[in-house]
Amino acid sequence: MRADIERILIDEEIIEKRLDRMAEEIGRDFPQGNLLAIILLKGALVFAADLLRRVPRQLELECLNVSSYHGGLESSGTVKFLDRSFPEVRGRHVLLLDDILDTGRTLHAVAERLRAEGAQAVHTCVLLAKDRPRDQEVAADYTGFVIGDEFVVGYGLDYRGRYRNLPYVGVLTREAIEREPG
Ligand code: 5GP
Repeated sequence: MRADIERILIDEEIIEKRLDRMAEEIGRDFPQGNLLAIILLKGALVFAADLLRRVPRQLELECLNVSSYHGGLESSGTVKFLDRSFPEVRGRHVLLLDDILDTGRTLHAVAERLRAEGAQAVHTCVLLAKDRPRDQEVAADYTGFVIGDEFVVGYGLDYRGRYRNLPYVGVLTREAIEREPG
């Protein structure tokens, strides 16, 4: 897998240090009350598992399966909810976790749905935010790292279903992309 990575953008050690600080911040901002963390699968799985274990407070956990990418390099533009059921969020403070904020469509659509389902408040948390204009007016309350507008993999993020288990965030070589065109 390493041979397919042209450049490591954020290494394991830097991610771990940042997660320590984010978890502290979340713990401080929500010292009590009934917090419900919702993880967007599959991209946010690795990030959320590492972050939430560091948060020094009680919380509940749900996952939501959504798709906005077809597995390639470009977003499909529509956000699909893939689960048959939706978590019970009425009256809850929700911490919504995603891997990356790109066009903003995913976070916007899911946050809207959570509000429509009666969530009392929706707080958003992403590992990465791309430095680019958003299609939707949306900002994350907690952002791990701001990165340039380029396609990245690793630490939960995939290309055609692969590279999610890399322990760092990196950029693919042209050869790796062309082997399985997006
Ligand atoms: P948005 O709806 O903000 O455009 O995109 C959100 C979703 O698109 C993310 O949850 C992620 O799954 C996917 N995505 C956006 N940018 C990238 C990227 O650079 N690499 C990968 N692997 N997925 C991305």
